[in-house]
Formats: sequence, structure tokens, C-alpha cells
Amino acid sequence: MDLVEFQGKQLFGRNGVPVPPVGSVCRTVDEIVAAAEQHLGEGSSAVVVKAQVKTGGRGKAGGVKLATSVEEARAHAESILGLDIKGHVVQVVYVEPASDIEEEYYLSVMHDRVGKGHLVICSREGGVDIEEVNRTNPDAVVKRTLTPHETADGLDPATAREIVTQASFPAEVVDSAADLLVRLFAAYLAEDATLAEINPLIRRPDDTVIALDAKVSLDGNAAFRHDGYAEWKIDGLDADDPLEAEAKAKGIQYVKLDGAVGVLGNGAGLVMATLDVVAQNGGRAANFLDVGGGASADAMAESLDLVLRDPNVHSVFINIFGGITRGEEVAGGIIEATNRLGAFPQKLVVRLDGTNADQGRRMLEEANLDSVVAAATMQEAAATAVRYAAEQA
Ligand code: GDP
Ligand code: MN
Repeated sequence: MDLVEFQGKQLFGRNGVPVPPVGSVCRTVDEIVAAAEQHLGEGSSAVVVKAQVKTGGRGKAGGVKLATSVEEARAHAESILGLDIKGHVVQVVYVEPASDIEEEYYLSVMHDRVGKGHLVICSREGGVDIEEVNRTNPDAVVKRTLTPHETADGLDPATAREIVTQASFPAEVVDSAADLLVRLFAAYLAEDATLAEINPLIRRPDDTVIALDAKVSLDGNAAFRHDGYAEWKIDGLDADDPLEAEAKAKGIQYVKLDGAVGVLGNGAGLVMATLDVVAQNGGRAANFLDVGGGASADAMAESLDLVLRDPNVHSVFINIFGGITRGEEVAGGIIEATNRLGAFPQKLVVRLDGTNADQGRRMLEEANLDSVVAAATMQEAAATAVRYAAEQA
């Protein structure tokens, strides 16, 4: 689950990561004006009006603006509310007392699946696109992968110091930036984040460092440890993918991916293997869907319906290895599902093996469905599904 900036700052703040003075979450021009009036009245020389959307580059898109007066704040409120930033329409705005910036740095911690650890990225050049810095001036970007073992009790302060020193942070801020990194790492672990990014981390005129921006993603698999992340769900922010949300509500194990071959199987291991076989045949899976053991006709129909409603799905590979799930039940489910769903353009390539597979295959053959194509092996099914997807696209 992705947080917006003000939520990320809230999460940082409660974990001791220094952030700007707390601002106001607003949804209307009037609320923004009132917040600006309050913060300016409390002695801030300026406020910053910031669009709260789950995408980066808000500044460039006109979604981050400084105001030194209430009138200016009103004008920014009018231009930012409703603004479309890369397909995200701004409904929530954060008004924060503005900070004075001496320098801008970059700091992040994220899961590194390939490196099997936690990746810390640190650069003296922040406030800009870090990918771009990495391309044009790779020496300016320090990357360090730390194993879960060596960070079981958090990030060692000496390691944090090494990282910021290597990134050539000025002597005046090395200690405070290293301390901030230790706290950021602790926050990332404690909150089960997969990403905690600060761009920019700023140095203020008094040489203190604070997180001026916050991008945090929380691990969905850890939601059960955090009351389902209920505290972060607020109106006006983009929800999860709608199909994933629907699947979750129905108890279907579904993850949306970005290919064209819908995948539906029984058992997480088999579905994972199915994604691999699709890839080996030059295709890309559109989703992961595990119908689970004892796939009933109902479960099959609901699952198929979900997969087919993804507009990117151009063919579906149904991969079933019968154990407790019996072949004739699966076949019955597919037949019922196709009857229930009516006409759809995609082909369903079915590979059925295991308990009572013969009987299931016979049922499918006798049903003589236009949309169903039988395949003898996983390999053949994958190749066929990939071919249909390509033809449909
Ligand atoms: P992003 O564009 O989505 O990454 O949004 P940021 O929160 O990073 O803001 C973009 C830029 O706006 C920053 O890099 C700063 O240069 C500027 N900015 C944001 N907040 C402030 C502030 O409080 N004071 C000043 N002077 N500039 C700010
Ligand atoms: Mn930023």
C-alpha cells in the first residue's frame, strides 16, 4: 500500500525521523485558505501548498507551490485542486509551513529482492530525479545492500555514517544525516515498509536536516500486523487496483500483473510455475489467480469473470492439477462459468491433469464450447495461450 506525502511524514514523525512542522490536510479552497491563514498567523513566513497524489513529480506538474500570503494561497488552491497529475486528479492538498532550504539531498531504503536485503541509496544531489542522477553522474549515488541478518537490530550507526560520508555530505551535517538514516531504517523495519524515500532531504540554514518529502510503501503481506493499515485509508486518495480490491472482498487470491495472458490455476506453486511457463513461451501473464483447492463451479465462475474483465487479458490459461480438486468438478465449473458469463472474445486454454482428468477432459469435449481449447501439457497450453493473446492484441 502506497502512502501519500503527508501520511509518510506522519509515519516518519512518530518514528523520530525529523520532518517540517505539522501542516493541514485540506479538500477545499476554503480549507486551504484557512490553513494558510493559520500557519502564516503562527509566524511562518510562507506556506507550501502540496498536491497529495500517489505519484512523483508533483513539483514539475505544478502541484507544489509556495505562498507568502493568503491571497497567493487561494490562487494556488484553485490551480492545484482538480489538477491532473499523470492521471491522478488532486482531491487532497497538504498545507505546510514552508522550510528554508540550504541544500537538497536524497535518501532511501527499499527492499532489494535481487540482492536479498535492504538497499540504502544516498546522494548529495537531491530534489531531482535520482534515476537521472544515476545515469548522468553514477559516482554521486551511493548504494549499499545490507542483509536482514546484519540489520536485525536496526542499522548500525557506524554504517550509516559511512554511507553519508561516502556520499560526500558536508561535514556539518554528517552526524545529523547519519542519525536520521538510522531512524529512517528503524521506521522502515517497524512499519513493515518496502520503500521509505526522502527526496529531498534538506539542510536548513541552521544545518539541521529534515525530510521535506516522503514516499512510503507498506508491505501488503504485513497488513495483518497493522490492523489492515486501516489508519491510512482516507477518502479522496486512489484506492488499490479495483479488480484486486474486488478479489480481496471475495476472498480470491488475485494479483494483477501487466501482461496479456490471464492465468488461473489451483495452488500457489502451480500458478507461479504457470507464470514462468508463459514467460518462457514469450508471453506475459496478466495476473496471478489461485482458485485454491476444491475449486467449485462457483469459485471458477467468479474467478474467470474477474480475469476476463481485465481489458488487457487477450487469452486465458487455465492450469489445473487435480488432487483434492477433481477433474470433473473443474470441467463442470468451466462449463458453468462460460454459460453464466455469456459471450466473450478470449480463448480459454485448458490443461487438466491429475485426479479424474480424463473424465473432465471428456466433459469439456462433449460440451463443445467455442471458447475452450484443450491442451495436453503445460508447455503446449502456454504456447497456445501466448499465440492466442498475440492474435487478439
Ligand atoms: P515532488 O515534486 O513530488 O517530488 O514534491 P516535493 O515535495 O519533493 O517538492 C518539490 C520541490 O519543491 C522540492 O524539491 C523543493 O525544491 C520545493 N519545495 C517543497 N517544499 C518546500 C518548502 O517548504 N520550501 C521551499 N523553499 N521549497 C519547497
Ligand atoms: Mn520529492
